[in-house]
Amino acid sequence: MAVVTEREYLLFINGEATEPADGELRELVEPASGEPLGRVALAGEKDVDRAVEAAHAALAGDWGRTPPTERSRLLHALADAIVANRKEIAELESRNVGKAISSVKLEINQAVENFRYYGSAIATIAGRSNPLGGSLLFYSLKEPVGVAGQIVPWNYPLTMATWKLAPALAAGCTVVLKPDEATPLSALRVAELASEVGFPPGVINIVPGGGPTTGAYLVSHPGVDKVAFTGSTATGSEVMKLASDGIKRLTLELGGKSPNIVFADADLGSAIPSSVWSIYYAAGQSCEARSRVLVEKPLYDEFVNRFSEGAGTLKVGDPLDPETQVGSLISENHRKRVHGFVEKGREEGAEVVVGGEPGNGAGAFYPPTVLAKVDNAMSVAQEEIFGPVVTVIPFEDEKDAVRVANDVRYGLMATVWTGDPARGHRLARQIKAGTVGINMPYTAFPGIPFGGYKQSGFGRELGLETLELYLETKSVIVSTSPKPINPFGI
Ligand code: NAD
Repeated sequence: MAVVTEREYLLFINGEATEPADGELRELVEPASGEPLGRVALAGEKDVDRAVEAAHAALAGDWGRTPPTERSRLLHALADAIVANRKEIAELESRNVGKAISSVKLEINQAVENFRYYGSAIATIAGRSNPLGGSLLFYSLKEPVGVAGQIVPWNYPLTMATWKLAPALAAGCTVVLKPDEATPLSALRVAELASEVGFPPGVINIVPGGGPTTGAYLVSHPGVDKVAFTGSTATGSEVMKLASDGIKRLTLELGGKSPNIVFADADLGSAIPSSVWSIYYAAGQSCEARSRVLVEKPLYDEFVNRFSEGAGTLKVGDPLDPETQVGSLISENHRKRVHGFVEKGREEGAEVVVGGEPGNGAGAFYPPTVLAKVDNAMSVAQEEIFGPVVTVIPFEDEKDAVRVANDVRYGLMATVWTGDPARGHRLARQIKAGTVGINMPYTAFPGIPFGGYKQSGFGRELGLETLELYLETKSVIVSTSPKPINPFGI
């Protein structure tokens, strides 16, 4: 990979590990131990210029002429290369993010399936022709948008990078991807594997760097045709402003405060363990974490007790231990922020049933925490805490459940637990969210569109629809008439 010494990771530009021209080298720290992990190159403006230039050259060169069948072969080859290197990638990601390796292994499986899905979905890229009447013939062409500037966050560095790379490459675009400066290692490794399996130089460029510096420069770069961003709603709003100057194509995958709605008639044998998983996997640092559990009043006390009992049994610790279920948070600073929310919840009148105290050993660990007696208007119910903290909120009836579920600015995901299938479908139609699960906690599958309503963003990932976001449609109209065309009759 892009390693010069054992612990130094360079930029990946034009098919090779590249020293920064005007960036810098920064020390990375393992969140779970506080130990140094290596030094990573951060891209400066000149580096972004070089990456965008390489991406344009690839479009104008070999990559622009590569037929869809060959792009498909390359995407499948990259999936195979990830499988062949999955142990190494899992450890790299787990150490870089502090995330439990058991979760990371599942994420790698999904990354592989995602490359395979888009490798096959290439077959659906096609224009159309429809009759215009008379002697006119029409057909449309699907063309890649061009150079995609992609920006991803730290919580799922590999997953987010692969969600963005696969459809862009399938569509024939080239990419300059900026991972978060703290978590660039898996994206750099994937780019290196892509190069090894035959993606031409310049097709995938990785430029780790700061958000307001490298990220903002990439979004504003006149050579970038499309921006695909995943991150917080606040940053998404900034990115939207920056992208507006160049009228860039834009997709935004933003924050969430997703409800998990449990009716009294639900099968609690599934609803309770699944609800526990839905907030605490990835230590709650998931955009679609079901961080608001809405429970029908007659069930509320029993639910809080059984949920808290489950949360208290989770194994928190060394991310590399295969038994660990909850790893560390991304950083000490983030732990402070999460704890600040718990303190705020206490002040607002919430009851901390389990957790709620940060550990004092090495590493940014925070225990699974349950806040009960929460009102949906409290800040802990409205703001994205992005940690292992759940808020449990009572509701009266079906109408009230829908009201509370929709009473946030976000709309990414919702899960409904009920023994009444018709009610499940009724709620699916009334909840304003990009994905609704009924008696099922899982959220993201290659082939199923994923994205937000309201301030959770726009555009979809993982679906066939996503290809369209990397394609332009060109209409070609031609006269087949042998007669002269003389509209003014001159
Ligand atoms: P963030 O918005 O702080 O950063 C996200 C990325 O944007 C990082 O790479 C960062 O360096 C970059 N960035 C920051 N400022 C920028 C700017 N001015 N211009 C351009 N780029 C900039 O978010 P985060 O804290 O890293 O990630 C967590 C957030 O991401 C949460 O809100 C979470 O819900 C969201 N998220 C959403 C999805 C989804 O699919 N909807 C998936 C994962 C995470």
